[in-house]
Amino acid sequence: TEACLTAIEGASALGAFVHNTPDVARDMANAADARLKAGEAPAMCGIPLGIKDLFCTKGVASQAGSGILEGFTPEYESTVTQNLWDLGAVMLGKLNMDEFAMGSSNETSVYGNAVNPWRRGNDDAALTPGGSSGGSASAVAADLCLGATGTDTGGSIRQPAAFTGITGIKPTYGRCSRWGVVAFASSLDQAGPMTKTVRDSAIMLSAMCSHDPKDSTSADLPVPDFEAMLTGDIRGKVIGIPAEYRMEGMPAEIEKLWQDGTAMLKDAGAEIRDISLPHTKYALPAYYVIAPAEASSNLARYDGVRYGHRAKLAPGDGITEMYEKTRAEGFGAEVQRRVMVGTYVLSAGFYDAYYNRARKVRTLIKRDFEQVFEAGVDAILTPATPSAAFGLGEMASADPVQMYLNDVFTVTVNLAGLPGISVPAGQNAQGLPLGLQLIGRPWEEGDLLNCAYALE
Ligand code: GLN
Repeated sequence: TEACLTAIEGASALGAFVHNTPDVARDMANAADARLKAGEAPAMCGIPLGIKDLFCTKGVASQAGSGILEGFTPEYESTVTQNLWDLGAVMLGKLNMDEFAMGSSNETSVYGNAVNPWRRGNDDAALTPGGSSGGSASAVAADLCLGATGTDTGGSIRQPAAFTGITGIKPTYGRCSRWGVVAFASSLDQAGPMTKTVRDSAIMLSAMCSHDPKDSTSADLPVPDFEAMLTGDIRGKVIGIPAEYRMEGMPAEIEKLWQDGTAMLKDAGAEIRDISLPHTKYALPAYYVIAPAEASSNLARYDGVRYGHRAKLAPGDGITEMYEKTRAEGFGAEVQRRVMVGTYVLSAGFYDAYYNRARKVRTLIKRDFEQVFEAGVDAILTPATPSAAFGLGEMASADPVQMYLNDVFTVTVNLAGLPGISVPAGQNAQGLPLGLQLIGRPWEEGDLLNCAYALE
């Protein structure tokens, strides 16, 4: 813990931590020490972690990267973080992220962007750590903590993991409780670990998961010891390679990464099978209808009354002006864009044309996966991202749709509720890390982690 606290102080330029809690960390570390001395050794005992700012942490500022939650200190602890503390983990502080987890570069954060510790060859230009869990990825990659919590609605654990050369898993929807995690798109949001290795992810995921009556979508299933399932033996497993993920204009370095990963799994004894997921091309548009629709509804609660920021009012202003001014000041441009899109697709005149149609497409995407798994495929291998980490500012100013294209390989997994993991699988010519994604059957994170372990 002390080593991490020192490292965090020395790495403030990375912008990874946004609220440091050294006193809390030392108290928790001492408590963990006492447990060890008493002969107790819970799985996370004494392990220093960073927590994404999206998780409510009792008595510690939790702003979800947004100006509208300025000054908000929760009275309660999220279930996922409570599970970690119960097993002895230590909180170092809160981590930077895109505002309300909307973004792929950490550039929509009210705190300013987090920075990727990696550089392109000898070029000094700062690169994005990805997003929205950019602070988590940067902190783990730079050894500021031993692990971090992330959340993933459309790729926010897997894309930043790929951009920073670390491992991140989004479990099956319902594995981790969403209670106390600030909601973005409730039918897609899942928490998961971001760590240096597959083994660490397995340990941390077991610690984070639980059945939670406070989240009606939390699954009442036993939580396996995922670490115990890491044998590295994947002989006879069937790995699907989906034709539709071979996008037009895919960079040669991504194509090569995918081929090398396929060859590695084959060498480890897996059977490689070409598969088809025909509705893939509709996933991104469906996601960018469903996610904003749910976000516009979830974000209606930030009204200047119940949480955080309230605008200064002029004489004569009424409640409508208070809502309008508070929301105009408190939300950043990307969040406002999502609220507008979401409100539009849910409006009476457009509900059937957009929202209902997107939900139908979602079902088709889910069925594509079900058919492939029913035909005997154990896991699906794809690239995690269409490129390596890009420069800060390089995409933020462009058309927002350019940024959305980052999620092309990851959003299908959230729409189908499946587990997906990103593992570091090589570097490009400029020395930047690249990640591969494995997608698994629902509730079989153990098998999925084991396939990733074989690739690591
Ligand atoms: N980049 C995606 C978005 O902006 C995914 C974000 C996430 O997974 N939280 O919606």
